[in-house]
Amino acid sequence: MSIEVDIVTTGKVYLIGAGPGDVELLTLKAVRALGEADAVLIDDLVNRDVLQFLKAQARVIEVGKRGGCRSTPQAFIERKMLQLARAGLTVARVKGGDPYVFGRGGEEVEALCRAGIAVDVVNGISAGIGVPAALGIPVTHRDFCRGVTFVTGHSRAGAQPDWHALARSGTTLVIYMGLTNLAGIVSGLLAAGMAASMPVAVVQNGTLPTQRSVVSRLDQVAADVAREGLASPALVVVGEVVRFATMQTSSGIEEPARKQA
Ligand code: SAH
Repeated sequence: MSIEVDIVTTGKVYLIGAGPGDVELLTLKAVRALGEADAVLIDDLVNRDVLQFLKAQARVIEVGKRGGCRSTPQAFIERKMLQLARAGLTVARVKGGDPYVFGRGGEEVEALCRAGIAVDVVNGISAGIGVPAALGIPVTHRDFCRGVTFVTGHSRAGAQPDWHALARSGTTLVIYMGLTNLAGIVSGLLAAGMAASMPVAVVQNGTLPTQRSVVSRLDQVAADVAREGLASPALVVVGEVVRFATMQTSSGIEEPARKQA
């Protein structure tokens, strides 16, 4: 009598943050995980240069939202990851920046855990850190702010952030996905009492050779950005620390005035 035993080895998923763009901002761990992957699901924000670290036979699946295509539904991405991992493959799910910062990484880890798939999260440099730095903006310089706050200008239910609380916080504001609602952000912050002269930077494609930026002030930034024609992906940085920006200055931002101790 012979007994047949089906041995199914389940694969694993690496949820990898690829950083803001410049491929040299990848972590060593991300490079190692990419090199182990049999299949890669890659978001459109991710610089394709990361593909150089894949094995030659790795399968690449684009799950991007740009290029004229509609957004790949999140449910499809999650199903695909499960299917590939259950087939025994090592899967790299590659996202821009850090997977847990406005990246839906939490949702994907939940889905994988529910399905009993092992997942390893590999941090990346979030755009909120890497992109201001590309302009020379020190987001938490202690002479100018009490910290930094990351917010999204584009929330799920269309609700606005609490601009009063943010304006009062004394922190640098780093706003992801804020470009389409820039006028709303500006009016929210002005209504909350923020100075019209508050320096604001808007940076498109930060850390990449295609990086473009506008450095302006709160009451002029929307017009300056419209004139320069900046497009997504773009990050909005609001705060005195923006005076350190080294790129184009369209509205005559002056030397930083240090706050009194
Ligand atoms: N998980 C990512 C953020 C995803 S949300 C992270 O940690 O960075 C996508 C938003 O991030 C974009 O709309 C934009 O606001 C910002 N972003 C990502 N990469 C960027 C880049 N290179 N330059 C400017 N903004 C960027």
